[in-house]
Amino acid sequence: ISEVDSINKDSSVRVAVRIRPQNSRELIDMCRICTTVTLGEPQIFLGSDKAFTFDYVFDTNSNQCDIYSDCVEKLVDSTLHGYNATVLAYGQTGSGKTYTMGTGFDHEAESSDTVQLGIIPRAVRHIFSGIEQLEGSSSSEHSAAGGGPQFSLAVQYIELYNEDIFDLLDPFNKNSNFKIHEDASGQITISGASIKPIYQPHDALKYLQQGALARTTASTKMNDQSSRSHALFTIFVRRQRLLTPSDNVPDNDLETLTSKFHFVDLAGSERLKRTQATGERAREGISINCGLLALGNCISALGDKSKRALHVPYRDSKLTRLLQDSLGGNSQTLMIACVSPSDRDFMETLNTLKYANRAR
Ligand code: ADP
Ligand code: MG
Repeated sequence: ISEVDSINKDSSVRVAVRIRPQNSRELIDMCRICTTVTLGEPQIFLGSDKAFTFDYVFDTNSNQCDIYSDCVEKLVDSTLHGYNATVLAYGQTGSGKTYTMGTGFDHEAESSDTVQLGIIPRAVRHIFSGIEQLEGSSSSEHSAAGGGPQFSLAVQYIELYNEDIFDLLDPFNKNSNFKIHEDASGQITISGASIKPIYQPHDALKYLQQGALARTTASTKMNDQSSRSHALFTIFVRRQRLLTPSDNVPDNDLETLTSKFHFVDLAGSERLKRTQATGERAREGISINCGLLALGNCISALGDKSKRALHVPYRDSKLTRLLQDSLGGNSQTLMIACVSPSDRDFMETLNTLKYANRAR
């Protein structure tokens, strides 16, 4: 057991489970709660005999702030120092992915109810205040040399549906031919997708809202597309510093670190087993299967030291291809498996816990 534990600690992939509270429908229907969390342990019981242990388990009473400070905050810090990070929300439709991630963001909530804010708006604020500190403190230390880092930020917001890419920040751009590129250093970029510079938290939140609106507008036309598609919100961080003689390099030069933080609101996991459909539905089913399946395979390969050396199947889907430079390596990944506590969702919850368990 200690061997397994140490492998998990070295892994760049961490897994959290979040159990949402029962909703009013479930309360009215008097659904039983079939999940129990072991006090003081990151362990969840489903029913009486199925136990799973993860890196973090958040019970129904945990709030948005708990999730953020326990497992996301340190990833944000690492992106300010040049490392990539990815947070993924996995689970059946209605399990709390969008709530947790904060991608259903609506602007009015910004001022009125900050306790409800999900991960993305919290991360945005934290990134800006982190930058302020880093720029501020270094410039006073090195004020004579002027060697403090300078940051610039930008965002991208895309949706993956049927293995097609949509630019949520340019939703009317229908004929664009998006292509995924990998440069010599292994960096992944999407040609044709817009990247918007941001200068204050409000800018990022505005784009988040714009993208959320583009998603819901499309979904009323296309039969709840949002539960069948993956939404990827990405923050690009560029950190530049003018090297000075004290850095012991011959010429003054510019040191540049770039990193990105992906926030992924995944398609509903119930699609994973929907295979008997025909026609357009079948195409949907199959390609969404392919993203979630490939993601599971990649994350499981990354968590397994012996497999990691051999092969991580990033190329099996657009989702994993897009995340290739941000899963594994020096990147930090957090998968949040969202589940319902109610007995009527028992089987979906079991499937989600099994999927998440493979990622450990
Ligand atoms: P998903 O994106 O997985 O389909 P949602 O995030 O839209 O699920 O959540 C479904 C509903 O449950 C929403 O109305 C959401 O506000 C509510 N909800 C989800 N998680 C929580 C939670 N932890 N606390 C309170 N309400 C929640
Ligand atoms: Mg959702």
